[in-house]
Amino acid sequence: MQEILIVEDESKIARFVSLELTHEGYKTTCVADGREALDLGLERDFDLIILDVMLPSLNGIEVLRRLRQSKDTPVIILTARDAVVDKVSGLDLGANDYMTKPFAIEELLARIRVALKRKTTGKAETYQFGKLKVDVGSVTAVYGSEKIELTKREFDLLVYLLENRNVVVTREQALDAVWGYDFYGNTNVVDVYIRYLRSKIDDVYKIDMIETVRGSGYVIRG
Ligand code: CA
Repeated sequence: MQEILIVEDESKIARFVSLELTHEGYKTTCVADGREALDLGLERDFDLIILDVMLPSLNGIEVLRRLRQSKDTPVIILTARDAVVDKVSGLDLGANDYMTKPFAIEELLARIRVALKRKTTGKAETYQFGKLKVDVGSVTAVYGSEKIELTKREFDLLVYLLENRNVVVTREQALDAVWGYDFYGNTNVVDVYIRYLRSKIDDVYKIDMIETVRGSGYVIRG
């Protein structure tokens, strides 16, 4: 499971972001102080850090500058509206992206996905199935020229099936790969998400992409 450090001294924002990320399947740690954030960021290997700029004891730009002396953890900085200087110095110092407050949580989630995919794959991967094109780097799925709206789980499950093309994937494997070992869920959740994917892709475009293999799992063939 991917772990994200949230550095934000406004407790309402920190709590909200943490809840949303947990809901999306990430593990989160929250810190409200710059110095504490730097110590923790250096000590541990987070998959990503969300870093507010205006912080007590050490500002976010300074945290980032010192962190970058020894770590390349992806960082998304949160800046106040119109704080152009923060954006520029943040990106100069190696922030992967920035968000201006107030922001829509969906936007932050999308940027997190991109930053994490870049980190894990190092390059943009694409998959194709007929007219369906899936771009892991930009986290998009299109059918022809039509964009398919997928949640993170749906997208990850689809990518997992495409990665394992022509190989039957069991529910347990899908659960481990997409939901993570920390997820103590029932494997039925995989069936539910397969249904979501089919309703958004197979049913809409009248294709039989995801095949059920009775007693085993699922496969995309071809
Ligand atoms: Ca702040």
